[in-house]
Amino acid sequence: MDFEPLFTFFAVISFVLGSMVGSFLNVCISRWPKGMSIVSPRSRCPSCETPIGWVDNIPLLSWLFLGAKCRHCGAVISWQYPLVEAVTAALFLLVFLRFGFTDATIVYMALSAALVLVTFVDLTDWTIPNEVTFPGIPLGILCSMWVMFYGDSAMRIEGVYEDVFHGLLGAFAGGAILYVLDKVSLLLLKKPGMGFGDVKLLAMLGAFFGWKGVIFILMVASIIGSVVGLASILIQKLQGAEEAEHYLPFGPYLSVGGLVMLFFGGPVFEWYNMYMDLPVME
Ligand SMILES: [Zn+2]
Repeated sequence: MDFEPLFTFFAVISFVLGSMVGSFLNVCISRWPKGMSIVSPRSRCPSCETPIGWVDNIPLLSWLFLGAKCRHCGAVISWQYPLVEAVTAALFLLVFLRFGFTDATIVYMALSAALVLVTFVDLTDWTIPNEVTFPGIPLGILCSMWVMFYGDSAMRIEGVYEDVFHGLLGAFAGGAILYVLDKVSLLLLKKPGMGFGDVKLLAMLGAFFGWKGVIFILMVASIIGSVVGLASILIQKLQGAEEAEHYLPFGPYLSVGGLVMLFFGGPVFEWYNMYMDLPVME
């Protein structure tokens, strides 16, 4: 990693851009589930409905300066807003630090923003927005084709991008695996395992990362999901709460799996391929 002035400058720009995109994601997260337009009206305080001026709408900073309260009515502003902005800003910075001045940076910034969006909509509304997955699947396939023809692309992961129909195959594998799991769960457990939104989400990630990426993401998502699931059951038991029968959103785990693939997939597959290529000891 080098710290030339230009590089540092763009690292800062990436962070600021991320926080601004995060601010826009907040609008989508609160309005999409209600079927509202994300363009108009201007942002308002949910309590007193006073339009929020630009000074009070600066990502991260305004929330701090306002002390998490509306300037007009004093209603508490949820910490979810600065959290989304901070997470998006951090991801944009990480993408730039990892991929630098390459084609991958633009694509993966967009992908991380999409995954933040999916995570928070699924956590708050228990749905995965088609507004993300419908354009995301063809976009992923397009990027895969781009990588296929432009061999120098920073998106290429050795040992993963090897099929001619990389993106198509990934999207199909991602969708098919969860679709079948869902049907099996319906048959055996008499309840749906995944929502159809999860199917489309993994298809989208497959379009970007191929069928090997799909397996990797599913593994990471399942591990994190089990740990979080067990922990929450344990906490409920300790607190003596009734076992809650509730829907467990899988979208956030798939999204985290996608981000792990994005940042660590390259080294992991490199290591895996090296290991597989080792001569057998006799
Ligand atoms: Zn207010």
